Amino acid sequence: MSSALKFTNEFVDRLPGDPEPRNFVRLVRDSCYSLVEPTTTSKPSVIAYSQELAELLGTSPEKVGIETFTEIFAGNRTVPGSTPYAMCYGGHQFGHWAGQLGDGRAITLGEIEGSDGVSYALQLKGSGLTPYSRTADGLAVLRSSLREFVCSEAMHYLRVPTTRALSLIRTGDHVVRDMFYDGNPELETGAIVCRVAPTFLRFGSYEIFAAQRNIEVLKQLVDFTIRTQFHSINADSSPDSYVEWFREVLDRTAFLMAEWWRVGFVHGVMNTDNMSVTGLTIDYGPYGWLEDFDFGWTPNTTDAQTKRYTFGKQPQIAKWNLLQLANVLCLLVEEPEPLQEALNSYDQIFETYYREVMRCKLGLREISDEEIHLVQELYSLFESIEIDMTLFFRSLASIDCNSSSDQLVLEQVGLALYNPDKISTEERARLENWLTTYATALRKQNQDPDVRAKLMNNNNPLYVPRNYLAQLAIDDADTGDYAFLSQWMEVLKNPYQEQPGMEKFAAKRPDWARTRAGCSMLSCSS
Ligand code: AMP
Ligand code: MG
Repeated sequence: MSSALKFTNEFVDRLPGDPEPRNFVRLVRDSCYSLVEPTTTSKPSVIAYSQELAELLGTSPEKVGIETFTEIFAGNRTVPGSTPYAMCYGGHQFGHWAGQLGDGRAITLGEIEGSDGVSYALQLKGSGLTPYSRTADGLAVLRSSLREFVCSEAMHYLRVPTTRALSLIRTGDHVVRDMFYDGNPELETGAIVCRVAPTFLRFGSYEIFAAQRNIEVLKQLVDFTIRTQFHSINADSSPDSYVEWFREVLDRTAFLMAEWWRVGFVHGVMNTDNMSVTGLTIDYGPYGWLEDFDFGWTPNTTDAQTKRYTFGKQPQIAKWNLLQLANVLCLLVEEPEPLQEALNSYDQIFETYYREVMRCKLGLREISDEEIHLVQELYSLFESIEIDMTLFFRSLASIDCNSSSDQLVLEQVGLALYNPDKISTEERARLENWLTTYATALRKQNQDPDVRAKLMNNNNPLYVPRNYLAQLAIDDADTGDYAFLSQWMEVLKNPYQEQPGMEKFAAKRPDWARTRAGCSMLSCSS
């Protein structure tokens, strides 16, 4: 059956590429990409796919046939008109310049125009060696691919800017991984995710040309980015357009950070090569979802000592990453001051987004310094008690601000506590006290209970892709059983809506998951 897919190749057609046609690991200069074919997989089969996205792209299995769909998104069949490539980029990893990185295992097939008129790049992750694979194998395992597939789709339905995932395919091949880097390599199930986004350009895509001192290609790439992705900016190659672009990237990034705080997402590896220049969540690796609310938490075991990428530090790390991008853009503008000014405005911009997030999470009509103080008190309370972020905020919507305080604690938020028996009298009193102050604030603002509940339930999700649920889905999928995954994906499509019978997907982390690998701790091995 014909694939019916019409690829355009703007990235390849408009930007300078690597002249070397052979696929071997190397340093690539002055090029935005290298052409490379995906490696053929031995026995591909579809584990899951996003029906909605497939329809948007005109690639649903119903339309193109399941066999064709599988072959294309496993990388076994090149669609006529597609010119697959791996992108060249660099990056700062854990605060240090790491040089050339690039798509070591991701291969973009090209761009397709969706039925919404937007052009989307389709990228296979785990499709074999590229010139950027360095010492690794270019492959991906089922556990990390499933996690990326689920989380990117879940983020989309949570309304958090994100790359999306079209398909999750089992390759039929094995991949060797030493999950804990402790000298115990094992054979794991191989998989490929097809990721979808208007662009996969990252901060590191520009940093590489600054490092190479190639102003010409840098300029070309920035102009291309503005022209294809930032339609509100006049792409006239002027220093002003570059500053305006930077301001826009900064604004989107600040918004994204506030959104991650809204839903309780920890990226885990906010290196500059994992920062989308269009403000999307990108590169789902050892990410995690806050269970017990803890600003100091990171799921990434590689960062366990340094704690650079904890939940609480994300907004400031984003600013540090933006500084690296500003340094690059200094090469394109005569006056660096406007870039500095933009950076100086970051804290204020983030604060504005953050306040709005908290206003919605708490169901307030307005949020002044007084209510922000209330938020700070809440967070300080969370430092000493173990409470589930998602369930706590969700339960807050149903409290009656006219009922007595101890009732509030017992009936409403008690279920969110991890160790209700261990909570001290003092902690309990603080929690009650906080709820009383909150109820007072609501009364003072004369907030309508229905308006409040609606606002809160539309901003505090009930279903998030909890870490332990991902592990359960992985355990099943590894044995070829995809029922749990499929049911979970359906639930995650309506994260703000209570779905009777689906309570198990909203349950707080069970005790067994507290220390189990993959549930609260993840290595970068993927
Ligand atoms: P990440 O930490 O996933 O953002 O990856 C950092 C860099 O390592 C990127 O250049 C990736 O393409 C590359 N990389 C990660 N895993 C692999 C792999 N299995 N094979 C080849 N390259 C990889
Ligand atoms: Mg990456």
